[in-house]
Amino acid sequence: MRCLVTGAAGFIGSHLAERLVRDGHEVVGVDDLSAGTRENLVDAPEVDLVVGDVRDAQLVRRLADGCAVVFHLAAVRSVVRSLDEPSLATSVNVVGSLNVLEAARAAGARVVLASSSSVYGDQEQFPLLESAEPRPRSPYAASKLAMEVYAAAWWRTYGTPTVCLRYFNVFGPRMDPFGPYALAVPLFIRALLDGRPPVIHGDGEQARDFTYIDDVVEATVRAATTAEEASGRVFNVGGGRPPTSIRELVRLIGQIVGVDPKPVFEPARPGDVRRTEADLRAARQVLGYRPAVAIDEGLARTVAWFRSARADAPGAAH
Ligand code: NAD
Repeated sequence: MRCLVTGAAGFIGSHLAERLVRDGHEVVGVDDLSAGTRENLVDAPEVDLVVGDVRDAQLVRRLADGCAVVFHLAAVRSVVRSLDEPSLATSVNVVGSLNVLEAARAAGARVVLASSSSVYGDQEQFPLLESAEPRPRSPYAASKLAMEVYAAAWWRTYGTPTVCLRYFNVFGPRMDPFGPYALAVPLFIRALLDGRPPVIHGDGEQARDFTYIDDVVEATVRAATTAEEASGRVFNVGGGRPPTSIRELVRLIGQIVGVDPKPVFEPARPGDVRRTEADLRAARQVLGYRPAVAIDEGLARTVAWFRSARADAPGAAH
């Protein structure tokens, strides 16, 4: 089938595009390269990458034409950046999603949209069920929740089949370790490989449900092919194990790198939640999703990538 991947040059989008090509699909990608890089797609030259903005409704509509599925991953991804630039995060994440839904409606395509565990905010009951009341704590989380509401409405109103996936802390090769909006896993790996102390924000007891990239890609592909039962719905996509504290994460990475980490503690970052832990029953039942990669195995693969020449290649991360 022919499919469109928005955000195809990004971390998750490039892994997804690569998998779709491997499965024999024709893949068109769109990315404005604001965070993604062409280098991320070097192993999938078959992807027809168009450099453009998802806020350009006509462009998205033209690219979706003839596609059976649109995977919508393009977004201003960082919680911290959304606090700095709420209007930008809202316009890209909400208007971009609207354009994708409209393009899919015109094309008669199914849509899989990348949402986020951040829509839960701070909760009392764990693991987190999709039915919990969302409590977004950042413009980013609010924009992802808005996207979910639009997606469900497009299913109810126009019959456009949509599935939103709440990804939980995805990690793996190609994560960007540089810049003010880098995430914990690549920052810790880079620091420990370079012999610097890792910086932990807060007390390090905040815990996350870390999910390896291959599991996320698997869930995303499944969401595109499952029956109507999935349409108009939201599913958690987590790692399938109890959450890992940030202190424990640093320890695990240290073990793989072969150093004894001496973290430096800095004040907690605004918008950070205390704990995430996905309830995977719905994803298991409806999508047949079963995470397969243990955290230490996923971290070992990620460290191996950071050690490889590729991670240092110009344009690999910026
Ligand atoms: P990423 O930043 O690597 O990928 C996003 C891509 O979108 C980038 O390549 C960027 O250049 C592109 N983009 C940004 N603005 C654009 C625009 N206006 N037009 C076209 N392209 C644009 O981030 P990622 O981690 O790969 O995230 C992919 C998706 O998954 C995002 O929607 C993100 O919100 C969601 N998500 C990620 C995580 C995670 O842990 N990484 C967790 C939950 C949800």
